[in-house]
Amino acid sequence: MSAAVTAILSPIALLLLAAVSLIASGLRWRKLLGLMRHTTRHESRLDHPMARVRAFFVYVVAQGRLLRWPLAGVLHAFIFWGFVVLLTAIAQGIVEALWQGFQFNQLPGSGAIAFLQDLFFFVVICGIVLALFNRLVINPTRFRGSHRGDAILILAWIGVLLVCMELNYATRIAEGAPEALGQWRPIASALASIFRPLGAGSEALIVLHGIFFWAHLTLVFGFLVYLGYSKHLHIITSVPNVFFKNERPKGALRTLDIEAVMNAENEADQHFGAGALEHFSWKDTLDLYTCTECGRCQTHCPAYNTGKPLSPKTLITDLRDLAYENLAGGYAATKHDAHVAADGGEGASTDSAVMWTSGDYHPGAMHDLPGHFQPSWLSPDDVAAAVPNGGPRPLIGGTILEETLWSCTTCGACMDQCPVLIEHVPKIMDMRRHLVLDESRLPKQAESALRNIENVANPYGLSHQSRADWAKDLGVSFIADKPDAEYLYWVGCAASFDERARTIAAALAKILQAAGVDFAILGTEEKCTGDPARRIGNEYLFQERAKENVEVLKRHNVRKIIASCPHCFNTFANEYGDFGGDYEVIHHTQLIDRLLKEGRITLDPAKAQEETITYHDSCYLGRWNDIFAPPREILERIPGLKVVEMARSKSEGMCCGAGGGRMWMEEDQPRVNHRRVDQAVDMKATKVATACPFCLAMFDEGISAKQIGDTLAVDDVAVYVARALKDPVVD
Ligand code: SF4
Ligand code: SF4
Repeated sequence: MSAAVTAILSPIALLLLAAVSLIASGLRWRKLLGLMRHTTRHESRLDHPMARVRAFFVYVVAQGRLLRWPLAGVLHAFIFWGFVVLLTAIAQGIVEALWQGFQFNQLPGSGAIAFLQDLFFFVVICGIVLALFNRLVINPTRFRGSHRGDAILILAWIGVLLVCMELNYATRIAEGAPEALGQWRPIASALASIFRPLGAGSEALIVLHGIFFWAHLTLVFGFLVYLGYSKHLHIITSVPNVFFKNERPKGALRTLDIEAVMNAENEADQHFGAGALEHFSWKDTLDLYTCTECGRCQTHCPAYNTGKPLSPKTLITDLRDLAYENLAGGYAATKHDAHVAADGGEGASTDSAVMWTSGDYHPGAMHDLPGHFQPSWLSPDDVAAAVPNGGPRPLIGGTILEETLWSCTTCGACMDQCPVLIEHVPKIMDMRRHLVLDESRLPKQAESALRNIENVANPYGLSHQSRADWAKDLGVSFIADKPDAEYLYWVGCAASFDERARTIAAALAKILQAAGVDFAILGTEEKCTGDPARRIGNEYLFQERAKENVEVLKRHNVRKIIASCPHCFNTFANEYGDFGGDYEVIHHTQLIDRLLKEGRITLDPAKAQEETITYHDSCYLGRWNDIFAPPREILERIPGLKVVEMARSKSEGMCCGAGGGRMWMEEDQPRVNHRRVDQAVDMKATKVATACPFCLAMFDEGISAKQIGDTLAVDDVAVYVARALKDPVVD
């Protein structure tokens, strides 16, 4: 073919290829974006623009979250950066196809670009080989339940594309084309020696070059189309997903506009949570498109790791599958996603998708799967009624099972691990809100906790009048008698009513008095913050409690709050702002740490506690509020204690199992708290320190159930400090 004919046909072929690809992928994107647009919950994510730009550089450009895992992170980072560099090679190919006279080597810096392209070809190919090895040979457990075929196909696709691209350069170099910049492409030059025997300018070499050149461009445009159907959609969607990340405090749940729902004229807006896919927001839908199925969330999920019917990864991919079914205009009622069942053994989770077969719901199948429990509040008849044969797949009951939603401890480990910042917990909470507020469906024990909060202002159901009994004879003032106190100590329901948790309040009072801190308590004016109600899904009850508490605190002109319960801490610090409550909140471990550092309390070496101690991070103190150091620094200062870290600690700490209202629900074996106790035992610890009354209760239960009380004991950090105080005011 003459050069003149090639000069005419080449741009036509390129434009045709591009047009087919852009039309096909455009149609898919139209649908994907349409689904995001048709969500009924409006949400703006344009606040804090500079923080968003920063997040883009940290999480996308620098691959910040992934680099937490050195090996996999570096591997992925090089693939990502290589991909960016190789985009220049793709652009070069497109321009060359459109303009035959284009001389790449005439561009400034072309040598350096060519070298980088060659270098990153090698790096990305190595990355792909390692990634395939990881998938096919190592196959880590975190990949369980992922779309393996898709992952392998896409890796192979990128690999073949890059090889064609490199061979395109190699054949050009063999032809002796100066614009191929052979001197800057050592790998392509080495490959060129394979083709040199064909002879520079030979017909065979020209044909081979044409094949490699057009193959790589065809694979590029084909890739654009396939992306829209693949889990590798994250290559594109992770960028906006990171940019539109949540910029509110991490521990704050979205405040529901109850009035707006009650007064909504449009029937589609008359719901409190998410009972259908479209009830989520556009950002929730973008999350679904962005899941890479890496499984890191699943690996760290305490529910999944104890065989509960919840895998955060599968929750997201099941929602995505439902979204794609809706996109396809039909409902795939034939799905039998047995991937989790196939896991077998520990970590197996009977998530929603496993239950869905051929349009018929088979509740009996649940019992065959390891670790499954049949919840008392969901009968097989309920499920069968929720999923009529052949009908559209409902969100709850047909895609996500109710027990999946109730298994979550809202520990946030999944969100903390996710490299593309997917938000699992808000989705779970939205579905819980639907169950509780729209359907009145919730576990019986959770229901009675809510009723107690409503009736006696504490989830324990104990007399409100006994709230301050713990403080009797401890010399603690009430704020009504001491209106100018610098701090209000918000005791919380646990430390007010639970015998064991009362030791925290008593120890803290002793420490504050020893340090001369000016504080008082509310006494019977204190009522539950509403945190358990909010996490269980009763937003209405939470808001009632929030408004009432904010009013009480306003009446007493409270500005500074000490909280010994991380759940209360989180509520005051992050959630009451929406109700006009603006406070300086300090957790008791932060305050004790400060008092020790300022020398306002001193510890007595004569009271050394010769123990090996391990600190258990409360999720609501640690992961949700980034308070990791103060409790550890306190323990390090206590005479005699040898502090050891559990394998899972700090941001990777494992939940005790009580969060998300799970404190008030029954749990089947193996229990999360038992697993956590095992981890403390693994460290040969003789003591555990907690900084949350619920963690304390869960450790107590675990130690007692395992009958290891003679070798392991648990107490709050404050209790260890109070024991070591040099001059206690109250003994
Ligand atoms: S919040 Fe915790 S329990 Fe809930 S899905 Fe995430 S990791 Fe699992
Ligand atoms: S960590 Fe994030 S990207 Fe990975 S599987 Fe979980 S949700 Fe998907």
